[in-house]
Amino acid sequence: MFSDTFPLKINTIVPLNIDTVRSDFPILSSEIHGKPLIYFDNAATTQKPQQVIDAISDYYLHHNSNVHRGVHKLSRQATISFEETRKKLAAFLNAAHDHEIIFTRGTTEAINLVAYTFGESTIREGDEVIVSSLEHHSNLVPWQQLCIRKNAHLRVIPIFDNGELDMEAYTAMLNERTRLVAVNHISNSLGTINPVKEITRMAHEHGAAVIIDGAQALSHGPVDVQDIDCDFYAFSAHKMYGPMGIGGLYGKESRLENMPPFHYGGEMIETVSFEKTVFNKLPYKFEAGTPNVADAIGFGAAVDYISRLGWEFIREQESKLLNYGTQQLSAIEGLKIIGTAPHKASIVSFLPANIHFYDAGMVIDQYSIAVRTGNHCTQPLMARLGIQGTIRASFSFYNTTAEIDKLVEAVLKVKELFA
Ligand code: PMP
Repeated sequence: MFSDTFPLKINTIVPLNIDTVRSDFPILSSEIHGKPLIYFDNAATTQKPQQVIDAISDYYLHHNSNVHRGVHKLSRQATISFEETRKKLAAFLNAAHDHEIIFTRGTTEAINLVAYTFGESTIREGDEVIVSSLEHHSNLVPWQQLCIRKNAHLRVIPIFDNGELDMEAYTAMLNERTRLVAVNHISNSLGTINPVKEITRMAHEHGAAVIIDGAQALSHGPVDVQDIDCDFYAFSAHKMYGPMGIGGLYGKESRLENMPPFHYGGEMIETVSFEKTVFNKLPYKFEAGTPNVADAIGFGAAVDYISRLGWEFIREQESKLLNYGTQQLSAIEGLKIIGTAPHKASIVSFLPANIHFYDAGMVIDQYSIAVRTGNHCTQPLMARLGIQGTIRASFSFYNTTAEIDKLVEAVLKVKELFA
């Protein structure tokens, strides 16, 4: 569950109107196949508001310069704006310190950073790493491969058929050999919101560290890493209305201080001689090379944008869409909703009876509706559910119930064509 203790920042002064909000996203007024675009692929990547696009182009138009190294004005300006995003992210996640936020290319790189630093230096032969059946390949393959390298054991928390984690099985799995628990906050395939605070508390009782894959969570509700008490939290800007190619890792100061660097080179050093290198302090120890400055600034604009809308508006819109979408799609005869956990984000995976999801996806595309079809980078989860994939509609606050009606119309057409 999301933390309710996290303060909702910058409350909106003017009541928000969906048309005004939609007009912030230029792509939403475009047409595909001669019809207005309906974008229901928000779990893959969200669209970008003009404010984010402007922040990136403003940087390249007026401030382009490398950070941290220059005394000239442009470089100082770029450094301030770049570091401003780190501060915004620390506040957004309620991290105790700004230097607990490390910029990465995204969630995948953040998880690999932890696997190759914390994982390599901590996991030993016979140790156990726990993941869940719901994991995206990004939060599974790095741990599986680490376990293979170290001769350690990968253990998997099972799920119930509705997509909820079996917490009793998790309890039974924890023991003195458990070193790390890696779970997602929200399942990208089923929308399940996992009890990450409870998972973390239980792992800590056994002395294990916890990494949360937050790729799907940060756009849907407030997250407080101190309240969850996780050791690491990974995220991607492009799923939070920000640019691609940037994201981050939150890590507790005490953990990060004790981890070796991930990449070596410029920026991450304090002093270098031919014999020896003293590494830089946090967070720079983990940020070798020139960072993605423009997109970090765009990321800051995305965080501002979410904060300006406020969680109240976002949650209200998205829960309305989740309920309406679930209701309308379930009413289609023979259609099965895949993932019906009681706590869900605005993601609806479904399968019409006896129709391949790719065939359905092609027809739905003709209605100018973007949904995702396939295994959603969760092949083991699909295997557990006994299916090859689903059709996934993932809603954002800028979607409407009228758009869901169009999706229903398209699915009915699919049934008619492939019956
Ligand atoms: N984890 C989850 C739950 C995801 O949904 C995704 C993206 N689909 C990732 C990890 C990987 O994110 P990225 O590709 O931005 O690194």
